[in-house]
Amino acid sequence: MPELPEVETVRRTLEKLVSGKTIESVTVRLPRIVRRPDDPEAFAMLLAGQTIRSIGRRGKFLRFVLDDYVLLSHLRMEGRYGVYPAEEPAENHTHVFFRFTDGLELRYRDVRQFGTMDVFPIGEEWRSEPLHKLGLEPLDESFTVQALRNAIAGRTTKLKPLLLNQEIVAGLGNIYVDEALFAAGLHPERTADSLTRSELNRLHEAIVQTLTDAVNAGGSSIKSYVNGQGEMGMFQQQLNVYGRKGQPCVKCGGPVEKFVLGGRGTHICPACQPVRKRKR
Ligand SMILES: [Zn+2]
Repeated sequence: MPELPEVETVRRTLEKLVSGKTIESVTVRLPRIVRRPDDPEAFAMLLAGQTIRSIGRRGKFLRFVLDDYVLLSHLRMEGRYGVYPAEEPAENHTHVFFRFTDGLELRYRDVRQFGTMDVFPIGEEWRSEPLHKLGLEPLDESFTVQALRNAIAGRTTKLKPLLLNQEIVAGLGNIYVDEALFAAGLHPERTADSLTRSELNRLHEAIVQTLTDAVNAGGSSIKSYVNGQGEMGMFQQQLNVYGRKGQPCVKCGGPVEKFVLGGRGTHICPACQPVRKRKR
């Protein structure tokens, strides 16, 4: 599932490929992708004639800013965008087509069909589902140590589920929570209220650094997407613990372990991330 860095890479790529283009028509082949308005015909009517002014991101949501509307798009498990000449045959599982006036087409493909699209009049998107409840934006300058402290202070929740909660910090998923906790040297079962001041500082720095590194890694892959114009979205990121069960820890050389926490596969180095229950 794409997390903040992958969505940010898609955002940057889309901005290069489709920003400034005017939508001539929209075709929805799978109505369930479109949530708002709930009629795909109405969705297409709203977007026809609109020019894409910019493309933003909030958490894992892409935010296409048009003349009068904002289109929010969540890729969920396997949603992908690609830009093609309109006459080129569409691949299987292509559900939404944005035909531009210049003959190109932005296509949304989603094998698992979990992705969503919502259209709002500009500005209204912040006041409704799905954006209004989102928590801190970790690559925004507003994401300070103090902001993180305020968001998690006193909570008895374990760090892993806490950081997966989009209403606390937006954009982290299973991969980057494991990576950030490893970078911070914190066990995923530690609770927020057990963190010392310096541990909280480390957690904050680890979240920012882990995501920044991943965004930069994605950025270096953008060029090939732009040249190829094909499907964009995934890139191979160097991961330190996630998916490395049994392999040597990059810090200490001991084996990386995997266990299930809150239903999610969780990767740690038990030596670098000791379970330490601090009495409050
Ligand atoms: Zn280690």
